[in-house]
Amino acid sequence: MQLALFPSNETARLRRIHRLLAAAQAQPETVSEVAPGLPPISQLVRTMLGGRTQDAISWAAYRQLRRAFPDWAALANASPAQLLPLIANVTHAEKKAKHVPLALTHIVARRGALDLTFLDSWPVLEAIAWLRRLPGVGPKAAASVLNFSTLNKRALVVDTHHLRVMTRIGVLPEGTTDGKAFERLMPALPEEWDAPMVAHHHLLVKSLSQNLCTARTPDCPSCPLSAECKWHTRRPKLASTQRASGPPAPGPSP
Ligand code: SF4
Repeated sequence: MQLALFPSNETARLRRIHRLLAAAQAQPETVSEVAPGLPPISQLVRTMLGGRTQDAISWAAYRQLRRAFPDWAALANASPAQLLPLIANVTHAEKKAKHVPLALTHIVARRGALDLTFLDSWPVLEAIAWLRRLPGVGPKAAASVLNFSTLNKRALVVDTHHLRVMTRIGVLPEGTTDGKAFERLMPALPEEWDAPMVAHHHLLVKSLSQNLCTARTPDCPSCPLSAECKWHTRRPKLASTQRASGPPAPGPSP
């Protein structure tokens, strides 16, 4: 994987964003609350369940799975029909019930054991590329395994929350995919940020997205990044442009 070179002013911008968010957070969510240092295979299962699902729901599903399969090797051999009732509340449960055992069997097939600790000594980008070849594992899940597990590696988790904030404040161009976002943001991370700091940065940005920079109704006047962000000044302009050009043409009947 080749990472784009990033202008150094973006690194300064990430430092500033992090400082502003950390200063504004009344009750900081700690990294250990969100990422309690699971072993890498457990983190992989946990993060695969978590895609597009609220944390409380995916944690509940993870605990159900753990109770039913105290040995992950048994999960690798489980059928989707066995998994589905245990994870029924997560988004795309049917797909995940297929992908989770499949990903585990791929690890065994490629490494001879259900173990990801070998990635500890690998460079982050190579480890990401290896993980992304597993069924159902995208850039976010791969980075979660490296950053949130006991591997504790310096990989930035870019989920829909992170992507939304970074796009709105203009660090990333609009329309950037999560894979491209990872490739652009990784080289921009300040070099003094170690793995826990990178995880903390992700949490700060995610928390902003969940509480203020929401998808439909961002609360820009309350946002600690409002001086950094041009999105809230662009928005009224877009609205007035639309008013000036009249209502949108009616679309085809459903
Ligand atoms: S100013 Fe508004 S759009 Fe920009 S980051 Fe804050 S909440 Fe999001």
